[in-house]
Amino acid sequence: MQNKNRFLDANIPDDMAATIRPRSLGDFIGHESLKQNLSVFISGAKNRGEAMDHVLLYGPPGLGKTTLAHIVANELGTSFRATSAPMLTKQGDLAAILTALEPMDVLFIDEIHRLPTAIEEVLYSAMEDFKLDIMLGEGPSAKSVRIDLPPFTLVGATTRTGLLSNPLRDRFGIDLRLTFYSPNDLAQIIMRSANILGTPIDAEGALMLAKSARGTPRIANRLLKRARDFAAALNRERITADTIKTTLFQLHIDECGLDEIDREYMNTIIQFYAGGPVGIENLSAALSEPADTIEDVIEPYLMQLGFIQRTPRGRVITDLGYKHLGLEK
Ligand code: ADP
Repeated sequence: MQNKNRFLDANIPDDMAATIRPRSLGDFIGHESLKQNLSVFISGAKNRGEAMDHVLLYGPPGLGKTTLAHIVANELGTSFRATSAPMLTKQGDLAAILTALEPMDVLFIDEIHRLPTAIEEVLYSAMEDFKLDIMLGEGPSAKSVRIDLPPFTLVGATTRTGLLSNPLRDRFGIDLRLTFYSPNDLAQIIMRSANILGTPIDAEGALMLAKSARGTPRIANRLLKRARDFAAALNRERITADTIKTTLFQLHIDECGLDEIDREYMNTIIQFYAGGPVGIENLSAALSEPADTIEDVIEPYLMQLGFIQRTPRGRVITDLGYKHLGLEK
């Protein structure tokens, strides 16, 4: 399979990705009611001079969870510390991060559903009472110590709220769900990024690109960068609808935003499993792709389009899915 990294900003240099990333709620496009609520919670905490309640952000990759966590810290006027659950393997790893926090800091933990249970348990008292309970030493000489922590705000991000334990989920006072963006919102994001990158794009081109960006800002920005390359190759100063057509054609992306990975996924179910149902483990083996990548990255958008269904017996291609591929059921 090619193009596995479509959800990474790998092809955007760090400084460029940082410039495109919105820094304030005002720059964050779309999700109006989520922003309104968040802004109330931020001003409430600021006015009381307290740490804001812990926030759980969930939704598929690339929709703005990390961006929102940065924005919360910026708007609160505090420092931002970030880590990712797979990097925390021992209780001591988390203890080192928590004890280095300053009062009111925002601590961002990405992929929080992947925290090992022993570390998750340390987080309970840290979140609830700002106390760190850890065991020092091993065996009979081990003793438990309790350390005071500064008040802080934990922002946890997850693509799978279903995998979060209830005790952990209950400790988040604010629960925000990010959903796929509308083409109009994505077009605005594309226009903003294009201006920052110094290659303006026509409204028509922006909308066309938006419709092929799988409702996802990260993909919209990545496609925009490729369109910028094609505009340069064609000697154009602006990105037009024509440039977008060329870009999408060259990248094998169709009018719904599906690429080769999506089509391979759907064709595999059709050719090898008669359209389904097929279990995720079989699909994972057939596609040589980890099951969680399939569940987090490929399937949510195909379900949103109504091309597949997840049933208790496995994945099934719908009539709409067959139609999209130009096949008869
Ligand atoms: P996630 O953490 O959910 O995977 P990110 O926060 O890293 O997603 O967002 C991916 C990129 O998309 C960011 O670098 C940012 O430039 C852009 N982005 C995300 N949400 C928005 C938004 N609402 N408005 C403008 N740009 C956005």
